[in-house]
Amino acid sequence: MLYNNKLNKLQERGYRMSTKPKLSMYWASSCGGCEVSLVNINEKILDLAANFDFYFCPCLLDTKKKDIEALEDGEIAITFFNGAIRTSENEEMAHLMREKSKILIAFGSCSYEGCIPALSNLHTKAAHFKSIYLDNPTVDNPHGIVPKTETEVPEGTLAIPAFYESVRTLSQVTDVDYSIPGCPPEPKQVWGVIEAVIQGKALPPKGSSLGAGNSTVCRECERKKEDKKITRFYRTWEIIPDTQACLLDQGLICMGIATADGCGALCPKVNMPCTGCYGPPVGTLDQGAKMVAALGAIIDIGEKKGLSEDELVRCVDHIIDSIPDYSGTFYKYSLAGSILGGKRG
Ligand code: SF4
Repeated sequence: MLYNNKLNKLQERGYRMSTKPKLSMYWASSCGGCEVSLVNINEKILDLAANFDFYFCPCLLDTKKKDIEALEDGEIAITFFNGAIRTSENEEMAHLMREKSKILIAFGSCSYEGCIPALSNLHTKAAHFKSIYLDNPTVDNPHGIVPKTETEVPEGTLAIPAFYESVRTLSQVTDVDYSIPGCPPEPKQVWGVIEAVIQGKALPPKGSSLGAGNSTVCRECERKKEDKKITRFYRTWEIIPDTQACLLDQGLICMGIATADGCGALCPKVNMPCTGCYGPPVGTLDQGAKMVAALGAIIDIGEKKGLSEDELVRCVDHIIDSIPDYSGTFYKYSLAGSILGGKRG
């Protein structure tokens, strides 16, 4: 109401309401990198402003939730929704933005597949609270207070959003039209979507991943692959890799083989292994499982060296032990959307 009153006053003073289609960007459980990727479309931001009324973006604009609630259903042309669903507030906003948006896009890895926040699904909510509020050496909490959704005070009930037992993706709580993968998405792909809407181009079928190809990062990577067998894995700081040869062949866990293409193999180009932020390729249900299967094919278990069964097991264990963090390596981005899914509350 306050917002509408202000608008009325502005209109009385000769200002006109924008008739441009509305565009919004909402962040749920995320780091803010997705907003940066929107700004990274650089001078195209002027074209965006020329064609859209950039209506809602909590980290940039002061539009309030009640202003969104006051809109007609579907009045927002496009909503880029970044961030995973960690709290009841995240979920409430997901439903609201769905209702008010013609096109709802899961923007970035957190929204699309859970990303880093979803690695917390490996532990319970109680374990998180214990670690953060009770055991944390930098916290002074002698009475062992942990957050409560509702707290009674003399003036009434104070409420904060509920912290869910596990993290979910946007499509696990509401209907999503498209996703744009990446951590964060590539600016050229963000602009591609905006430009297609400006030009009235037909968008791909509902459910499509915009910006991702039909193959894997390996297809885009120009490194020479020799299908070597490897006897141990290395972390990036342990070796200086050859700049021409496949990183996986050199013992670095490069997720390119289990990751959708579309980024242009940006990480391998700068001598860093792909960590999988574009999610599973088309036809793959579980990115981590695909990567584990791929590693199974390249590990040298010494079959040809006449080892006994026990020796083979020890050999495999030794190789596997050189991978420091299975979940964080194979499911860094995709745990919430994977078959494994992490613990569900
Ligand atoms: Fe390139 Fe990595 Fe694929 Fe090797 S595994 S070809 S380095 S993307």
